Amino acid sequence: MVEERDIVIIVAGMVGMSLALLLRAQLSETIGVTLLEGNDLSIPADFQDTYPAFDSRTTALSYSSRRIFENIGIWELFENNTSLINSIHVSSKGRFGSALLTSNDYDLPALGYVAENLALGSVLLRSISDSSEIELLGSAKVLNVKSIGKAGVSLKINQEGLVKKFKTKLLIVADGAKSKIRESFAIDSTIKDYRQDAIVTNVEFERPHMDCAFERFTESGPLAVLPLLGTPSQPNRCSVVWSTNPERAKKLENISLGKFKILLQKEFGYRLGRISDSGERSRFPLSLIKANEQVRQGIVIMGNAAHALHPVAGQGFNLALRDAHELARILSNAVSQDESLGDLKVLESYRLARLRDQEIIVTASDILPRLFTYRNHFVGLARSIALASLDILPPIKNRLVRHAAGMSF
Ligand SMILES: Cc1cc2nc3c(=O)[nH]c(=O)nc-3n(C[C@H](O)[C@H](O)[C@H](O)COP(=O)(O)OP(=O)(O)OC[C@H]3O[C@@H](n4cnc5c(N)ncnc54)[C@H](O)[C@@H]3O)c2cc1C
Repeated sequence: MVEERDIVIIVAGMVGMSLALLLRAQLSETIGVTLLEGNDLSIPADFQDTYPAFDSRTTALSYSSRRIFENIGIWELFENNTSLINSIHVSSKGRFGSALLTSNDYDLPALGYVAENLALGSVLLRSISDSSEIELLGSAKVLNVKSIGKAGVSLKINQEGLVKKFKTKLLIVADGAKSKIRESFAIDSTIKDYRQDAIVTNVEFERPHMDCAFERFTESGPLAVLPLLGTPSQPNRCSVVWSTNPERAKKLENISLGKFKILLQKEFGYRLGRISDSGERSRFPLSLIKANEQVRQGIVIMGNAAHALHPVAGQGFNLALRDAHELARILSNAVSQDESLGDLKVLESYRLARLRDQEIIVTASDILPRLFTYRNHFVGLARSIALASLDILPPIKNRLVRHAAGMSF
């Protein structure tokens, strides 16, 4: 038997879950939303009471992301789990020139927010589980997917040993940068290996971060230090994303805690005093991966499956959330005008609406890490002047902040 669905999203990653909630908020109840995930979806029961002191990845959320989550009524669930970014200090190691961006100078309550992925993911998953209007299928492995033209997409899944067949008007592919589903549709991607890996860890400093994020450009790659919520035993916690060449990153991942602290301190300096502790380290190889097509009849490619970026500007999730917000809006309009959800014309209008924002953010996150790794003296001088003048020229700074906050679109 083939079961019919309106919209199926693969999988329940950060983008897939956010999109499911946005669709549910925008579409009428007559349109079904199904979320398929290969993993077991049990929620860590204790995440609300205990912060794992040194969990690995965190996400810097822009002001636009806050507004999107506010619109669907779930921002307040994040609020207790996020720290504020009220200022950003940008500097270049071994060069003069730095810039300070502060929320007071702009009409924004904060420049951004930092959430630990475990907390972010748990809130999203809990909101979905609490909504009886989103069909959530965990432990569901996709066996195959096939385009069936105007009728949409057919898929076969194996859920805990039970094989099920579906036909959906619209399939949304959000299974990450190395998307198997994107591959199944023979949608090629353009890949640029940055020859950089990010070392991600949480660190306790001697002095409070005062809600300031630091972006420090070094010759081997950018180093970001983001403010985290403190715990009673670690009040000055920060999240570190340290991008460097793969050989060095492998060493940094495996050296002793003592050596790691010394090297990080050397790279970051003493702005927050001594590093007193540092947690588990994880390593993420960095590439720019862009799907060569984001829409086809009955298919949309989203999130990292559509565009996976260098984390230098902390924009990957924020950009994808703006994509998801726009897709939900366009599909809602399509429904009210009796258009089919998977109609290529409808999906093309989504692609066109998102083109400019995607181009600006992808280009910026591609140029930034390269610009600051040039060893050439004149380029080094130019970037020092650029950083220094950023502090002197408010209009440029203003535009930069508006882009980073996702408010230019
Ligand atoms: C170091 C680092 C720091 C970042 N910091 C920020 C930031 O501060 N702000 C920001 O906006 N963005 C940031 N990003 C980008 C952000 O993490 C991504 O944009 C976001 O995770 C995309 O979500 P997604 O759901 O599309 O894909 P993913 O989270 O990549 O994956 C989706 C899902 O696919 C499934 N999946 C995919 N592949 C496999 C597999 N092989 N096996 C099992 N399951 C699989 C998993 O269930 C996963 O949850 C950062 C990225 C990195 C690497």
